[in-house]
Amino acid sequence: MAADPGTERSNEITFTLGPEHGSQSPATAAASRDESPLAGLRVVVADHDIGLRRRTAELLREYGALEVVETDDRERFRTVLRTRPRAESGWHVALWDRELESDPGGLAEFLNACRHEFPGTAFVLTTDEVSTTAAVAALRGRASEIVTRRASGAELAETVLRAFRDRQQDREEVRADRKPFRMLVVGAHPDDAEIGAGGTIHRRVQAGWEVTVLTMSHGAVGGDPDERVAEAHEAVNSLGATLVLEDLPDGGIPDNVETVRRIERVVQRVRPDVVLVHSENDTHQDHRAVYRATVSAARGVERFACYQSPSATVDFAPNRFAGLRETDLEAKLTSIHTHGSQAKTRAYLRDDLLRATARYWSRFTREYYAEPLELLRVSGLVWQENSDE
Ligand SMILES: [Zn+2]
Repeated sequence: MAADPGTERSNEITFTLGPEHGSQSPATAAASRDESPLAGLRVVVADHDIGLRRRTAELLREYGALEVVETDDRERFRTVLRTRPRAESGWHVALWDRELESDPGGLAEFLNACRHEFPGTAFVLTTDEVSTTAAVAALRGRASEIVTRRASGAELAETVLRAFRDRQQDREEVRADRKPFRMLVVGAHPDDAEIGAGGTIHRRVQAGWEVTVLTMSHGAVGGDPDERVAEAHEAVNSLGATLVLEDLPDGGIPDNVETVRRIERVVQRVRPDVVLVHSENDTHQDHRAVYRATVSAARGVERFACYQSPSATVDFAPNRFAGLRETDLEAKLTSIHTHGSQAKTRAYLRDDLLRATARYWSRFTREYYAEPLELLRVSGLVWQENSDE
């Protein structure tokens, strides 16, 4: 995705996203090969004694390590760790000799600083003997493991592998916590979501969000029903989102518990972080019914906002403005064109009007286009007013 500066404004709808999922380390598969348990691993060995250092490095290579670099110096240790970009998953394990830093406080501080700077690397403290003091030092420095400097090859390999795996598991747990944001956009008829929030859907999908569109009816009577269903899917897919299509009666969407249940089912499945729906300030009875049902069905969702439909009344009072780029607006227009039969006949779906509307709302943002939203509710801590993806 291209860099996208300057969208922060207090009245825009902005969120942060977790980072891209990191590249998987090579050693997971290799770990199961008994003859070379360290296959694929890159290890840094720091030891003040050249003989022991050589021995350790040789043992690591013997057990399959892909790359081993030796050092006996604090600065060089960090320099080596910096040589490999994290994109290549960096150094997997670094062994640090306790003797290299005699002051226990300094040792803990140094190891903590390393851990912070190189979060992908597992640190192992090496020591003459595994005593309580040494164990405490490892603990304070948050080293993954501790091992004697004269350990056998098997013991050394086992320790290094365990440290690597623990670190990798920690990292995966952190990543699992940073799932992409999920947005659910609910509309009464095919094309409602695209008209009200098509640009926002496109932009959020581009930023890595998972977006689901829930359309409550197959749309106006007339035309080939199968063709309309196909168009509905194609239009939503063209924005990068997924369509869930319900079949409540167009023009008579009931304002009752059945409608609530149908939306609830999708909310439970999608578990959205944000829900967008029609505004209550709308002259179309279907839009109001879907708005009301969604308020009930999405009561547990942290962020809830309403988009503008062509049938919105003058009471529609937006307080958030989702900035759009030219590409987002183009994608919106394309998706609306996909509803071929509708777009040709309805004056409110003309490109010039859609473009002018988006252009008008941009006056509340620093972008060229925008879609307006009535933000009804924000709860929880994830909303970030001043940062964009
Ligand atoms: Zn509609």
